[in-house]
This record gives sequence, C-alpha cells and structure tokens, in this order.
Amino acid sequence: MGKKVLVIGEIREGSLRNVTFEAIAAARIVSDGGEVIGVLSGAGDLHEMGKEMVYYGADRVITVAHDNLKTYTSEGHAQAIFPVIEEESPEGIIMGHTSQGKDLTPKLASKLESGLISDTTEVAAENGAIVFTRPIYSGKAFEKKEITDGLVFATIRPNNIPSLERNDALEGEVTTKDVDVKDIRTIIKDIIRKSSDGVDLSEAKVIVAGGRGVKSSEGFEPLEELAEVLGGTVGASRGACDAGYCDYSLQIGQTGKVVTPDLYIACGISGAIQHLAGMSNSKVIVAINKDPEANIFNVADYGIVGDLFDVVPKLVDEVKQMKV
Ligand code: FAD
Repeated sequence: MGKKVLVIGEIREGSLRNVTFEAIAAARIVSDGGEVIGVLSGAGDLHEMGKEMVYYGADRVITVAHDNLKTYTSEGHAQAIFPVIEEESPEGIIMGHTSQGKDLTPKLASKLESGLISDTTEVAAENGAIVFTRPIYSGKAFEKKEITDGLVFATIRPNNIPSLERNDALEGEVTTKDVDVKDIRTIIKDIIRKSSDGVDLSEAKVIVAGGRGVKSSEGFEPLEELAEVLGGTVGASRGACDAGYCDYSLQIGQTGKVVTPDLYIACGISGAIQHLAGMSNSKVIVAINKDPEANIFNVADYGIVGDLFDVVPKLVDEVKQMKV
C-alpha cells in the first residue's frame, strides 16, 4: 500500500528552489503510489508557488504564511511546519539538503523522535524496500540505508535526483493553514550575500573552479568569462581562497560546498583529497593543469595539460563560435 509523503519546499528570494522539485520526484518513489503532499512556509501569497509544486508532481500543497516567516529561521519555520506534520501524520518527509534543509530537518526529526537520513544522492525501490544511497568518508564510498520501521525522513542532495517534467495540466489543491508563529528568539537584521551575481554553487549545472594556479584575483577573470558563456558560475579551491584570490563563499570541498554539476572545469587545482570530497561526484570533470602528474587528472574525464591562461581564453572563443 502506498505511503503518504510530505515534501518541505524551499523558497529563496521569492521563488522555489529547484531542489524542491527534485524532492517531489524522490517523494514519488518513497510514496510507492501513495500521496505526495507539498508544504510551503513563508510570507505573503504562496499560492502560485504551491501550484508549481503541483505541476512538478505533488498531489496537493499546504501553505503556511505568516509575517514572521519573511526571513528564514529554524524556530519560525519549525513552528509553521510542525502542525502540518501533526495533522497529516505522514509516513515520509523529504527536503533538500541545502543550508536551510540541514538546519531545519534535525530540529523537526528530534521533535518527532525520528531518525534522519541526510544528504542522499539516490532513492530507489529495491526488492520491495525503499533504499537511500548517501556518500560517506567525504565521498570516497557510498552506503545504502533502508528504514524498516517508523517515519522515513530524508534530505536529498541538490542536482542528483532528476525532477519530473513540469506539467501545468496537473491538478491539485493548494490550501492555506493558519498557524501562529511567535516568540522567535533569533532576529535576522540583514542578509549580506557575498557572491551575489552568481548562480548558487550547490545547484549550478556548470562550475568553472580556480585554484592557486590562478595566481591572483584578476586571474579569475578568464574563468568568469568561461563560466558566463557556458551559463555557469565560478567556484574555487581552498588554496585560492586562502591566498585571498576570491571569497570563501566560493570554496568547494570537505570544508566548503559539496557540488554535483553536469560539468566541472578545474583550472590550476592540484586535486587534494579535501577538494575532491566536494566535487568528485560531478557528472563530467575537465581538468586544466600545467603538471601532468597532478592528482586532479585521476578523477578527470578530460584532461588538458597546459597553462590555464592559454587554454581558458581558447575555450571561451570556441564556445562563442559554437553559439554563432
Ligand atoms: P595547489 O595544491 O597549490 O595547486 C595548484 C595547482 O595549480 C598545481 O597543481 C599547479 O600545477 C597548477 N598550476 C599552477 N599554475 C598553473 C597554470 N598557469 N596553469 C595551469 N595549472 C597551473 N581544499 C579545498 O579545495 N577545499 C576544502 O574544502 C578543503 N578543506 C580542507 C580541510 C582540511 C582539514 C585541510 C587540512 C585541508 C583542506 N583543504 C581544502 C586544502 C587542501 O589540502 C589543498 O591544500 C588545497 O585544495 C590546494 O588548493 P589548490 O589545488 O588550489 O593549490
């Protein structure tokens, strides 16, 4: 018999994050033919975003709007979502493994006295059971987990589980639930975005990353140009961040962001294990490095031995030519 599965949607700067749709696709697998219910908390009119969740496969959506949910706090959003969980008694809950998901889901899981499988990269039905795959040891191995009893609560890593195709012919109710959200002790006074113009690294389809080999902040300019023509964004190794060539918000790796783009171009990055921990699950990896012995070539699908300052501008020209 199918399960009832709740998907906690995530809003960022007035729109739904893509991982919300990926979570719906994962929830459809977990539900095994049961019901998938979206829940959205925020401020203002959430109806249209609720509809979007329906177009991506939710059977119905419950929205909770309150002025105190204008900016994200785990206290506020837990207060908004918990009553929906209590009312619906789902057998599964899925959310994106984003900063918000990493913050909110442990709070909800502890309130529900439930376990939580975090950062899953695959959800599959195997021999009548739902099996979650997640990376361990900084991505060097994968473990499979199955919940045999109780609530199935999981977060999914962005860019790993494909969302279903949007279909605006799908119909589903979007309802509003009144919840009083109060006594929030965390006051968010201001949100300062350090990398304001780029696509969010964790959801980017193309990343052009620079390492210490880029040599200066100006050295990042050709990489930015390549990222732009490819419709992607720029990332970095810790080497480049430590050297002051770029902001730490761009750092990818064990102590930075974990990314899984379709295309990862590593420029002047040696391929230290701590860097690989954040990018080795990218679908296609291209490495550009002067040193043919650089470890990055061991994980690369395509390797270019050469000076990045020669190679990257040539790639930019090639991509521009292809677009003409
Ligand atoms: P380097 O190792 O110095 O490599 C530079 C590369 O550029 C070399 O391979 C060189 O051949 C190449 N190069 C130079 N000039 C050119 C050129 N003109 N054209 C082409 N190639 C050129 N690192 C991370 O990245 N992310 C993390 O999250 C992270 N977490 C860490 C956590 C811990 C606890 C520790 C101890 C370390 C961590 N590190 C992390 C650091 C990591 O060990 C490496 O020091 C770092 O990744 C090295 O950065 P890099 O590859 O840019 O620099």
